[in-house]
Amino acid sequence: MPDQDSLIPHVKHTVAVSSGKGGVGKTTVAVNLAVALAQRGLRVGLLDCDVYGPNVPLMMGVKQADVHGSEGQKLNPPERYGVKLMSIGFFVPEDSPVVWRGPMINSAIQQFLRDVDWGELDYLVVDLPPGTGDAQLSLSQLVPLTGAVIVTTPQEVSLLDSRKGLAMFQKVHVPVLGIIENMSSFLCPHCKERTDIFSHGGGQAAAKTLGVPFLGEIPIDLAIRVGGDEGRPVVDGHPNSPQAGAFGNIAGAVIEQVKIVTAAATKLTIIQ
Ligand code: ADP
Ligand code: MG
Repeated sequence: MPDQDSLIPHVKHTVAVSSGKGGVGKTTVAVNLAVALAQRGLRVGLLDCDVYGPNVPLMMGVKQADVHGSEGQKLNPPERYGVKLMSIGFFVPEDSPVVWRGPMINSAIQQFLRDVDWGELDYLVVDLPPGTGDAQLSLSQLVPLTGAVIVTTPQEVSLLDSRKGLAMFQKVHVPVLGIIENMSSFLCPHCKERTDIFSHGGGQAAAKTLGVPFLGEIPIDLAIRVGGDEGRPVVDGHPNSPQAGAFGNIAGAVIEQVKIVTAAATKLTIIQ
C-alpha cells in the first residue's frame, strides 16, 4: 500500500547508494544499477543528491536539461536509458562553488522528492555525497528509505570508512542492503591475467565482519571508466559484456535484499 503521507507516495522502494569516501565509484554504481534495474522492466528514477560532486548528469549523458514545467507544476525529470533523472547539477553552474549548509541541503532534497514528477516508480536510486553528513541524515528523515548500499574499494582505508557508514545507517534505522566492492581486480584484456591492483576480497571480508550481505564485486576496467566519461553506462553501451554482467548481478542481489527487508518490515508491522 502506498504511504500517502510520504513525500513520494508513488515510489515503492528507495535505495541510497553511499560510500565512506569519494572516488570509490559510487556514482558509477548508482547509474549502472539504475539502468540495470530499468533493463529488467522496472520503473526507475535516479536522484543525484551529491551536493559536492553531482556527476549523474555527466555519467548519464544529460548535461543540461530544462526541468522546469509551467507555473505551479512539478519539475519534469528527463529520461535517459529508461531512467528518470533529477540532479542538483541541473541547477548549479558546473564550476561555481556553492557552500551547502545543512538546512539548504535539507530543503533541496525535500524539493527533489516532493516537487519532481516522478510518476509511479518501482525503484528510486539515490546517489549521496560521500561520508556521513547532512544529506544522509536529511534523506533518511524525509523518506522511509528501503535500504542503503555501501560502495567500497578493497583498500583498508575505504573499508574502515564503510564501517562508519554502516554505523550511521543503523543509528537512523535504515537497513543496509549490503556492500559492493568496486575496482576489485583488473583483468588484462590482452593476456587475461588478473591483477589485484587495490587488493581483492576486502569487501566480502568486511561484509562478513560487519554482518551485512555482500552484493558483489566490479572489476577495475577501461570500458566502465569510458562509459562514465562519455555518458553511456557500460550496462547500456556493452550490455553483453562481463562488466555489464557484474552490474546486472548486483542489481539482482539488490532486488533480493529489498524483498527480504520489505518482508521483514511487513512482519514487524503485523506483530506490532
Ligand atoms: P564517486 O562517485 O564515488 O566519487 P565515481 O563513480 O565518480 O566515484 O568514480 C570515480 C572515477 O573512477 C570515475 O572516473 C569513474 O569513471 C572511475 N571508475 C569508477 N569505477 C570504476 C571501475 N570499476 N573501473 C574503472 N574506472 C572506474
Ligand atoms: Mg559521485
